[in-house]
Amino acid sequence: MALHQNLIAGEWVGGDAIANINPSDTNDVVGEYARGSAQDMQDAIAAAKAAFPAWSRSGILERHAILKKTADEILARKDELGALLSREEGKTLAEGIGETIRAAQIFDFFAGEALRLAGETLPSVRPGIGIEITRDPLGVIGIITPWNFPIAIPAWKIAPALCYGNTVVFKPAELVPGCAWAIVDILNRAGLPKGVLNLVMGKGSVVGQVMLDSPLLSGITFTGSTGTGKRVALASVEHNRKYQLEMGGKNPMVVLDDADLANAVEACVNGSFFSTGQRCTASSRLIVTEGIHDRFVAAVTERLNGLVIDNALKAGTHIGPVVDASQMKQDEDYIEIGQKEGAKLVSGGERLNRETPGFYLKPALFTEATNQMRISREEIFGPVASVIRVKDYDEALATANDTTFGLSAGICTTSLKHATHFKRNVEAGMVMVNVATAGVDFHVPFGGRKGSSFGSREQGKYAAEFYTSVKTSYTLA
Ligand code: NDP
Repeated sequence: MALHQNLIAGEWVGGDAIANINPSDTNDVVGEYARGSAQDMQDAIAAAKAAFPAWSRSGILERHAILKKTADEILARKDELGALLSREEGKTLAEGIGETIRAAQIFDFFAGEALRLAGETLPSVRPGIGIEITRDPLGVIGIITPWNFPIAIPAWKIAPALCYGNTVVFKPAELVPGCAWAIVDILNRAGLPKGVLNLVMGKGSVVGQVMLDSPLLSGITFTGSTGTGKRVALASVEHNRKYQLEMGGKNPMVVLDDADLANAVEACVNGSFFSTGQRCTASSRLIVTEGIHDRFVAAVTERLNGLVIDNALKAGTHIGPVVDASQMKQDEDYIEIGQKEGAKLVSGGERLNRETPGFYLKPALFTEATNQMRISREEIFGPVASVIRVKDYDEALATANDTTFGLSAGICTTSLKHATHFKRNVEAGMVMVNVATAGVDFHVPFGGRKGSSFGSREQGKYAAEFYTSVKTSYTLA
C-alpha cells in the first residue's frame, strides 16, 4: 500500500507509517499515512517562515486562482472525497458528501475574499494628515484540527490563512489523515509556491507539541478538546502569539409546550444524533416543558427506533459508527454513569452487531435527567442525549445557561415573544430557533463563548480578525 507522505517545503517526505482504519469495518485499511517526527515539524515551520515574505506580497489574483482551483477540484471530486471521509470518520455518505461540498464552498468564498481585500481611509484630527487602516498578514499560522469534521474544519482554517497572505503548518488529527492529505495535495497542485502550506501528520503529543513550543509561529488556530485547548493557550501566552480556540459544547435545545411537535422532534433527533452525535454543536441537553414532555419523549423514541445504524457507506444508513474504540468506551462509560446517577435510559445505549465489524452504538436517550448530573455537564461527544423536564420558559432559559459551555443553543416554539427573549438572553455564540443546534452556514461567523471558544470568530468575513493584524498609518502630505 502506497504511503501518503507529509508535505514539507514543497517536497513529499516519508517516515514511519500509521494505518488509517475504517470505523464501519475495522478490517478495512483506508490507507497508510506518514507519522511525522519532531524534526519534520521543525523543518515545516522553518519552511513556512522562509516562504512568508514572498507569499505575503503575492498578488491577489494568484491567491484567488489557487483557492478557486482548489474549490473547483474538491467539488468535482465530491463523491470520491465524501466517500473517503465517510470511510475514515464514519459519518454517512450523504453527510460525507455534504461536508465535502461545504469545504469547496469555503475555498470558493475565500477565493472571492482575496479579491475584496480592502482598508479604510479617514482624515486625522490634525489637519493635513491622512489615516489609512489596513490589514497585514500575521506570519506563520499553525493549524491543529480534530477528527470529527476531517475536511470542513481544515478548509475553514487553511482557506482564510492563505487568502490573507499567511503561510501555514497544518497538523490534522491522527485518526483522520485521509481528507487532510487530499486537500493539501489539491492545494499543492493548484500552484502554491513551495513552503506556503506544509502538512505534518503525526501524534499531537509529538508534532503538535513542537508547534506549541515554537517561537516562530505568529498564530495558532485550534479546534479540539478543552484540555488540549488550554495547552495551546498557555504555550501561546508564553510565546506572546495570537491564538484562537474552538472547543467543546453541552448545547441545550429547549422545547416549549407551544412547539410544533413534529418539527421539534426532527430538530432534536438531527441535532442530538446525526453524525453519530460527534459534533461540537450537538444538542446533548433537551430541556422540555411539562405540557409537551411525555408526547415529545414518545415521539422521539419512536423516531429513534426507525433509524438505521449501520456501515456509513451503505445506502439507507441514517447513523454511522462511533469513530473508534476509545470514543466508544467514553460513550458507554457515560451511559453507565447516567444510569447510576438516576437518569432513566428509555431508548438505545447498547452495542449493535452488523455485517462488518465496527463501533455501532444505538443512540441513547435518557429521561428524568437533572442539569446537575455529569451526563448534563460534561461533553460526551457521542449519540447520547438527556431530556431535562422543566416547568416553564423561565426555568428552561435558566437551565440552558447553567453550563460552563456556550457554543450553540436552540429553542423550539411558536411564540415570537419567547423566541425573541431567548435570542437575546441565552449565553451562546450561535442561536437556533426551530432549527437543530448543529448544522451551520459557511459564510457567517462560527464560534461560542464561555468554555467553548476563545478569540475571534471563524468563517465568513469575521475570519479576517484572526488571520490579519490591523495597521493604522498616518501620512502628512
Ligand atoms: P483533541 O483535543 O484530543 O485533539 C485535537 C487536535 O489536537 C488533534 O489534532 C490532536 O492530535 C491535537 N493534539 C493533541 N495533543 C496535542 C498537544 N499536546 N499539542 C498539540 N496538539 C495536540 O480533540 P479530538 O480530536 O478528540 O476532538 C474532539 C473534541 O473536539 C471534542 O471535545 C469536541 O467538542 C471538540 N470540537 C470542537 C469544535 C468546535 O468548533 N468548538 C468542533 C469540533 C470538535 P492527535 O489527534 O493526532 O493526537
